Amino acid sequence: MWILVSFVLTLIAAAVIFGPYLRQPSLRLGNTSIDPKLAALYSRRDALYQALRDAKFDLETGKLSEEDYARQSTLLKHQAADVLRSIDQLEASLIAPELDARIEKMVAERRHEPDELKRSTPRAETSARSAAAGFCTQCGAILTPGDRFCGKCGQPLRN
Ligand SMILES: [Zn+2]
Repeated sequence: MWILVSFVLTLIAAAVIFGPYLRQPSLRLGNTSIDPKLAALYSRRDALYQALRDAKFDLETGKLSEEDYARQSTLLKHQAADVLRSIDQLEASLIAPELDARIEKMVAERRHEPDELKRSTPRAETSARSAAAGFCTQCGAILTPGDRFCGKCGQPLRN
């Protein structure tokens, strides 16, 4: 009986201790993943949209004349267009490095594909070969499988 009680108490204690840790990562991610400048632009855009809606409402309720509404909405739309352009540019500049990295990775993987196809030899032979290519014959440095040159002395390697 005591074993059961202490087991349940341990579970409760674990939930109390680790619960916040389990919940925090997603929260933290949500806060850091968005650029502050971008967040400011988003809220500016939303404010402009809201102002446009308000102007429209004021027109419908008669608080704004047709001319005033036309003037205000044109101004707001111009501002919104500027903000949208800034958002596009900022988003592109934020995403570009990540995209570049992803493309580089894809290209690198493609480049390795023909080698993989050529090496469609039984597994045992492949591992034996990479084990044989384990050390540089010139300087004895440890080699990674697939290396064309020794990373230490530059000796060309035959694979
Ligand atoms: Zn070497």
